Amino acid sequence: MAFAQLQIVSSLADAYSKDGADALILIGNFDSVDDSALAEVIQQAKITDQRVGKQPLLLKADGVPGQRLVAAPTGPLNRDFDDVRQVFDAAHAAAKMAQDAGARHPVIALNNVNINDERYKQAFLAAYLGLCQALYQPLEAREAHGEEAIEPTKSVILVGELDADWAMAVEAGKRVARDLAGTEPERMAPPRFAEYCRQAFAHTAVKVTVIDDSQQLQHEYPLLAAVGRSSMAVERHRPCVIRLEYHGSKPERTVMFAGKGIVYDTGGADLKVGGHMAGMSRDKGGAAGVAGFLKTVAELQPEHLNVIAEIGAVRNSIGSDAFVADEIITGHSGKRVRIGNTDAEGRLIMADLLSHLREEAA
Ligand SMILES: [Zn+2]
Repeated sequence: MAFAQLQIVSSLADAYSKDGADALILIGNFDSVDDSALAEVIQQAKITDQRVGKQPLLLKADGVPGQRLVAAPTGPLNRDFDDVRQVFDAAHAAAKMAQDAGARHPVIALNNVNINDERYKQAFLAAYLGLCQALYQPLEAREAHGEEAIEPTKSVILVGELDADWAMAVEAGKRVARDLAGTEPERMAPPRFAEYCRQAFAHTAVKVTVIDDSQQLQHEYPLLAAVGRSSMAVERHRPCVIRLEYHGSKPERTVMFAGKGIVYDTGGADLKVGGHMAGMSRDKGGAAGVAGFLKTVAELQPEHLNVIAEIGAVRNSIGSDAFVADEIITGHSGKRVRIGNTDAEGRLIMADLLSHLREEAA
């Protein structure tokens, strides 16, 4: 998990004195600048460059860690349509610039952002998450080039107020979700999706159970098994159900999730044509979001909560054994379903998952 680790400090001076600090990313509106030394740098830069305050720029600044100041403007924040996403976007734009300039431990500070305004209460969190999202590299790229080489930013020192453990737990979850949702269909075929989950939750309080026996799937998840039918001939494409379970020590409520994990959607016999298949490795975003949420839960270990999730990881392939429109299949719930279009497969796998969860909830 090589995302930037977060440290919180309460002043610029404290941030500057941190070991290794090597850049300052200043995010906000630059109509006025609170810190007088920074105000001077920005004022000077404006003389020769009209972009200052309008787009993110790297400025040389004495007294700033690494002499690197990335001035990342949000634009005005006081119009009725402005909101905290501008802080996220500014941090996103600045993060890569600081990293490309050589920074590995940037400081982040907000300028002229009113955190007492309801809209900007989450501004510190948005800044951290925006930076992390910009610096995230896809799993395939990390596996090809090495995480160290392409995700070199090690830590972030944030000037402000934020629960660092909480923010990092959220980022850890987002990272799992991005990996699972974005990765290509062979690397994230159902058995490898399950394997990723096993590794992500190893040595955590989340229990992972994988159901991949074809007889069991046909019997207990008949709609899901129908969607996966033409993938059965290829061992590495075979479907599975991944159960993720977390039990708090003093549970007050239980939440349940069913995650759609179509690792690739060709459409099935109702084939996606005319170039509409490209991108269909991301038909597993629901499942990825569920697993990501569980990752955050695993990191935070809330006492009061139980979470039970079932993910259907299935490849909607096409072949001689593909299910077709007009078939009538009895789902786990006992409901009989007439297939109208094999490209409407998500609801089929979700129906069986939900039926299991409903029984368990009862
Ligand atoms: Zn579909």
